[in-house]
Amino acid sequence: MKEQSGRMTVKLLDLAAQYGAIRDEIRGAIDEVLESQQFILGPKVEELERRVASYCGAAHAVGVASGSDAILLALMALGVGAGDEVVTTPYTFFSTASSITRLGAKPVFADIDPRTYNVDPARAAALVGPRTKAVVVVHLFGQTADMDPILAAALARGVPVIEDACQSIGARYKGRPAGSLGTAGCLSFFPSKNLGGLGDGGMVVTSDAALADFIRTLRVHGGRERYYHDVIGINSRLDALQAAALLVKMRHLEEWHEGRRRNAAWYGERLAGIAGVETPHVEAHNVSVFNQYVIRSRDRDALMSFLRESGVGCEVYYPVPLHLQRCFAYLGGRAGDCPEAERAARESLALPVYPELPPAQREHVAARIREFAERRAEGRAR
Ligand SMILES: *Cc1c(COP(=O)(O)O)cnc(C)c1O
Repeated sequence: MKEQSGRMTVKLLDLAAQYGAIRDEIRGAIDEVLESQQFILGPKVEELERRVASYCGAAHAVGVASGSDAILLALMALGVGAGDEVVTTPYTFFSTASSITRLGAKPVFADIDPRTYNVDPARAAALVGPRTKAVVVVHLFGQTADMDPILAAALARGVPVIEDACQSIGARYKGRPAGSLGTAGCLSFFPSKNLGGLGDGGMVVTSDAALADFIRTLRVHGGRERYYHDVIGINSRLDALQAAALLVKMRHLEEWHEGRRRNAAWYGERLAGIAGVETPHVEAHNVSVFNQYVIRSRDRDALMSFLRESGVGCEVYYPVPLHLQRCFAYLGGRAGDCPEAERAARESLALPVYPELPPAQREHVAARIREFAERRAEGRAR
């Protein structure tokens, strides 16, 4: 708990709290790498690849430089290029779509299911057509998308499905882990993810041995043998320092997911029945890892200002759906194309949910939201 001139401050995410609990383990692991002076790929990265593959229910994993590169490399390995269409969601982090456009392909946006913020499976399935080279499904905020209908539609046409599981390592769909559901799963180790490194990092998981092998080649400039290049790859490798820290964090990951779920369940009870506030919906067949705890309010902007003035860290993920981003104007997207994504961009608000969040701070967040709703109700009654 932090008091500033008698006022409580609640951070949206407090990574120092996590580090404080594992400082010695992390430092020991870092020291080991420093002593080895082996910094690029190597045994630590291979060990992490084995651990993450097994955790995600996949046969193979390939460590890369970021989650964005994981998506890019998966698309490259599947041969996505100019003239191809890739069906995806407009309500996600930018790089889900920029990985597609970077290869000269065209993202085709399917609107979302307003209850989960994930792509609406029927809409995504309907957009799979003769030009579709891949589907990139995002498991947003820690919950998997409804994969079965999407997989059925895509696989019937021989179209591979990539899971952007950057926010959802450890999430489950009908008992199956995120990343094992489609052709390949992409993970991010950006510090704010559930499994966050000491900088950028990412991984592709897949049970397709040939695909894994191709991505391994592409991440080292496309050469199987050094200085001989059959294909044009990129430089996108995971550092040993990151792998060492991530191996330490893997040991705590389930307990951290559990802490996030505990906080989410607590909010669910505490915020229930507050007028104008919708708490997140997790499908019965899903287990969420709550990378974000996102509520909805028609008064979102006023609520956000009120919470920030009350010392509560909160954030909008995401204020502009991708079909309306200026850089994608050339794709011809217009307001009204994806009304649910546009409404989510106006109404969603992420609250602090990190595992170490002190109960008194959690209480403060809920109390301020209730206070805001009561003030609004009084204002209307007057
Ligand atoms: C974080 C994130 C990415 C990108 O990961 P980086 O490691 O930051 O490149 C991609 N997609 C989603 C949904 C993300 O949350």
